[in-house]
Amino acid sequence: MSGLLAVPIINYHKISEESDIGITSRRPVDFRNDLRWLRDNGFTSLTFETLDPAAVLPQKPVIITFDDGYRSVLENAAPALAEFGFRAVIYMPVSYIGCWNDWDVQFGGRKFKHLTRDELLILISAGHEIGSHGLSHRLLRHLTADEKQKEIGLSKVRLEDMIGRKVDSFSYPFGRADQLSIDLVRDSGYKFAVSGLFWGRNEAGPFNLPRTNIYRMDSQSALRKKMDRPMRREGLILRDFLIQKGGLATAWYQKIMGIGRP
Ligand SMILES: [Zn+2]
Repeated sequence: MSGLLAVPIINYHKISEESDIGITSRRPVDFRNDLRWLRDNGFTSLTFETLDPAAVLPQKPVIITFDDGYRSVLENAAPALAEFGFRAVIYMPVSYIGCWNDWDVQFGGRKFKHLTRDELLILISAGHEIGSHGLSHRLLRHLTADEKQKEIGLSKVRLEDMIGRKVDSFSYPFGRADQLSIDLVRDSGYKFAVSGLFWGRNEAGPFNLPRTNIYRMDSQSALRKKMDRPMRREGLILRDFLIQKGGLATAWYQKIMGIGRP
């Protein structure tokens, strides 16, 4: 396990020319350059479903993840991943598969489409893993124990039904894991779960693996620094902390407006 904790996990959202308010949309050209840098520097990508805890890890492992599963993952990320020989893990808010991202705060009215079931099957056949990002992309901390169980356990069952294979990993919405959610993830039969970088109040472990977000304005050297964890000295941490805090505005908006409530 200690080996796995040392594996850098980098996280993307949209790969698109279009910017968005959350600055989580990375330009396709920058994404290709990220992958070129990873390949040229000898990195091997791992996925959770193929991870054998007993096996020796490659010398320079990396796990590449995408939260929210937008269509741009298929359109813009998948061709580049294939070109450079990498596999990724794509985390879906399961109730929104094939739908618009109505769970998100959309300043300016711009909406984005989530991947459909058929598109997920295409990504699976290309070697990528599909994981659960809950049902409705709500902050688990805002939910009752019952609701948490549905987001975590029911999303796994539904996603497995939909794609016809086991779902081994979970990504906490907004990167935030609370202790009950961590326990529920473990008890629901997941093998791994990923969180954000800065929410370390709960101990890191297989059900709370920290990740680093790669944002639109990150340069190549920022990627390098972010790969080289821990990055406390690098001055990036405060900026990224503030960005992730900003993301929580969406969670509060959902709570106030009752978005995602059954
Ligand atoms: Zn998300």
